[in-house]
Amino acid sequence: MRKIAAHYIFPISAPPVRNGILTLSDDGEVLDLSASDSTLPESEGVEFYSGALVPGFVNAHCHLELSHLKGVLPQRTGLAGFIPGLAAHRNDFTNEQALRAVALADAQLYASGTVAAGDISNSGLTFEVKSRSPIFYHTFIERFGLRREEVARSVQSAEALAAEAARLGLSASATPHAPYSTLPELYAALAQSSRWSVHNQESSDENLLFREGRGALRELFLSMGLTPIPRTGKSSIYHTLQHAGEAKRLLLVHNTFTSAADYDAAAVRCKNISWVLCPASNMYIERTLPPLQMLRSKGASIALGSDSLASNASLNLTDELKLLAAHFPDIPPDEMLRWATLGGATALGVEHIFGTFEKGKRPGVTLLSRLDLDKLKLTPETKSQSLYFRA
Ligand SMILES: [Zn+2]
Repeated sequence: MRKIAAHYIFPISAPPVRNGILTLSDDGEVLDLSASDSTLPESEGVEFYSGALVPGFVNAHCHLELSHLKGVLPQRTGLAGFIPGLAAHRNDFTNEQALRAVALADAQLYASGTVAAGDISNSGLTFEVKSRSPIFYHTFIERFGLRREEVARSVQSAEALAAEAARLGLSASATPHAPYSTLPELYAALAQSSRWSVHNQESSDENLLFREGRGALRELFLSMGLTPIPRTGKSSIYHTLQHAGEAKRLLLVHNTFTSAADYDAAAVRCKNISWVLCPASNMYIERTLPPLQMLRSKGASIALGSDSLASNASLNLTDELKLLAAHFPDIPPDEMLRWATLGGATALGVEHIFGTFEKGKRPGVTLLSRLDLDKLKLTPETKSQSLYFRA
């Protein structure tokens, strides 16, 4: 048994507890959470930390396999500039270099307070590292393609990767990449998968392609000798909704150009959507932030992701929180912390283990230090670290 105390504890399922004491079993199960009756609960058998304790972070969207591209691609190119850069440089590195970057990213992710993550994989490069990590990963085996003749082979290779993931004990499901990159036939072929993580409305060109059949993405695909998805007259989100079905657990990632009408259409057609936001990546690629106030006003289930090191300086969710806190100073910190914990756990279907300090869960413990303890807010200096976690 272990007792951990701090100035504040955020159980997430309830308001923050001042001078809280968290009691955990040896394997990390939450046994109790109480408030100390006196000032600081420094007593025998209690470890005291300056700052706040939160359940381990859940990063709902990352791509460990792109970690070797840190700092390689220029910023603010827009999605239609980012995609060819990614394609051009992705294979400039040896397998050993890429693997070293994966292992480092996994270690940094855990060190910065993350205990669970939704990770996009196009290959099996990351599987060994993930199978040995203290972090719980759900792997989204990602497929895309605009050539009809390649759909069957693409689905077969996803099945082979899913079998490899299962052999290593990894949780995994196949997913389409994005509406603009994935033929309806490929969406349909992946329809049986229980859980999708789809890049959604990350650029205005994506909507332009679907609504009006023009724009930079269309030009990009034509220049690559590919046939772009034909105009539908509706925004791109419908392409995904049409194939997802009502019951699928659907993670819609980015949503930078999602309107209130798009949100309403999605809520009618699919009952299990998590709106995953990656603000630092959006700033890197598009210099735009997602419509957070619209999503909040709709009562959306929000989660946070870092996206990859190809479009972000770190995979640390505290950096995402600090960016949001700087742009949206009126949003209460416990609401944002909910997105970084329970929101992600719900998105990945592991909210029975992660996301809150409720009795019986084993959510890990993350320490937030250098907070503004008077206003209970994050500051530019706030740091996070994993304190305790036994999977
Ligand atoms: Zn992504």
